[in-house]
Amino acid sequence: MSTKHIVLHDKAFRLMIENSRLEEAIDSVAAQLNRDFADAPTPPVLLCVLTGSIMFTSELMKRLDFNLEVLSMKLSSYQGTSSTGEIKEVMGLTGSVEGKTVIIIEDIVDTGNTIVELVDILKERGAADVKVCTMLLKPEVYHKSIKMDYVGMEIPPAFIVGFGLDYNELGRNYPDIYVLDPDYPVK
Ligand code: 5GP
Ligand code: MG
Repeated sequence: MSTKHIVLHDKAFRLMIENSRLEEAIDSVAAQLNRDFADAPTPPVLLCVLTGSIMFTSELMKRLDFNLEVLSMKLSSYQGTSSTGEIKEVMGLTGSVEGKTVIIIEDIVDTGNTIVELVDILKERGAADVKVCTMLLKPEVYHKSIKMDYVGMEIPPAFIVGFGLDYNELGRNYPDIYVLDPDYPVK
């Protein structure tokens, strides 16, 4: 049984999406990728955007049955519970994307500032094609023109943690997703 609430630093979060539902969404995204990349002429790159995407990337990649490379890089835009709008490249790309098809693996797309910046970086480094695959999307907040090629699940615009996502570095290890609960007492 999953805990109904977790407390991270000074805030409480209540259970929102159970892991079984996340796994179903990942099965569906994996099936789409397996279909789309079955006959790819060269192995694509899965780009794990650290740190939030590690759990999604590992769950997704073990379901993929075509040859692929895995690269990572670290970006940061969030401070506490909101986006600063300023994207920092905290750790550069771990390998070359020159001439390759890159599938960006994101935990969540919110304002889309990160994705816009990332697509620019990848094109600059010579990627032949860039696709976006995100576990979660907040459609009420996302208004950029870049197409979301693969989406696990759409969620309302609330701050969530778990399944790789953090609140000031805590909460990433929980397999379910939790949403901020301002009414729950924090001892
Ligand atoms: P964006 O640039 O699209 O506004 O935000 C992208 C990044 O901010 C995500 O990759 C994620 O790391 C972080 N982020 C966005 N929404 C949330 C959220 O609800 N919870 C957490 N923990 N991080 C988020
Ligand atoms: Mg992220």
